[in-house]
Amino acid sequence: MRTVITGGAGFVGSHLCERFLAEGHEVVCLDNLLTGLERNIAHLRDHPRFSFVLHNISEPVTIDGPVDAVLHFASPASPADYLAHPIPTLKVGSLGTHNALGLAKAKDARFLLASTSEIYGDPEVHPQREDYWGNVNTIGPRGCYDEAKRFAEAITMAYHRFHGVQTRIVRIFNTYGPRMRLNDGRVLPAFMSQVLRGEPLTVFGEGQQTRSFCYVTDLVDGIYRLLLSEESMPVNIGNPSEITVLELAEEIIAMVPNTRSTIDYRPLPQDDPKRRRPDITRAREILGWEPKVDRAEGLEKTLEFFRSVI
Ligand code: NAD
Ligand code: UDP
Repeated sequence: MRTVITGGAGFVGSHLCERFLAEGHEVVCLDNLLTGLERNIAHLRDHPRFSFVLHNISEPVTIDGPVDAVLHFASPASPADYLAHPIPTLKVGSLGTHNALGLAKAKDARFLLASTSEIYGDPEVHPQREDYWGNVNTIGPRGCYDEAKRFAEAITMAYHRFHGVQTRIVRIFNTYGPRMRLNDGRVLPAFMSQVLRGEPLTVFGEGQQTRSFCYVTDLVDGIYRLLLSEESMPVNIGNPSEITVLELAEEIIAMVPNTRSTIDYRPLPQDDPKRRRPDITRAREILGWEPKVDRAEGLEKTLEFFRSVI
């Protein structure tokens, strides 16, 4: 199999590149390095089945030779990143998805879209099942990301229904692990860099909002199974273990004995979802998938990574 991974130099993308190489695929990693890092794929550059293409997928794309699968992961993903790049975010979700689907159609390849729990917005249904249509503020600051991903799902289904492209949609819930950027603004890198520097942890609001954190290797395993499955409807992949942001801060402080870190409460950003937890019944039933790495183990591995880069 020859697989194109857009956004392959990012956090999730680089782990996907590794897994697909390990499964024997040839991997073409396509990235414009907007939020990704060359360092994430430096260890793969000499692999005989790996190649890197520096390209903005929001512009038309040509790849020579056969392609069996296209995984579309290119997009800023951290709120701080997409707030800094709202128009490239809208373009990569719309034009970029169109171009990636066009590549899959031209090559008769399977297509997999990285969608997100953000398409549920600030959810009124809890936990979130795939048949919930969501509660998104189209004109709020997060709208550039949420609506781009909602459009991406719609065009993916149109290519499936109208052109008969074999498509897959994964709705990814908060994922963490090594190779997140220390300063990407997401809660895990923020808290870990703060605790390692002995600075206060910046908890937004009262920290009572919840998230459910999935370790990256579990996510990648779910994505691999979904690609090989026959399921064209969206599937949630995430870890249902839900925690408040304040509890997460306390867990991370407890991981570093004798730290000087305390909690610093900051204003809650607009439209910050109050609760988020995946219902993973479909992933269990269709893919035989469930997460294997619990938070204690995943946080330990991630802290070890941040220690090495700080
Ligand atoms: P990331 O920022 O680390 O990776 C995104 C990658 O896409 C980067 O390497 C960036 O340079 C690249 N990119 C952005 N725009 C591009 C463009 N126009 N052309 C080519 N490359 C481009 O983020 P991540 O956490 O690895 O997220 C990867 C994907 O997974 C994203 O599509 C994101 O929406 C989705 N996702 C991630 C999470 C999560 O918790 N990590 C949750 C939900 C969805
Ligand atoms: N958050 C926080 N402090 C930070 C960064 C984030 O309290 O320094 C909160 C944020 O308000 C949200 C949660 O942590 O409620 C997760 O934020 P993140 O940016 O990681 O991702 P989101 O799930 O909101 O896309």
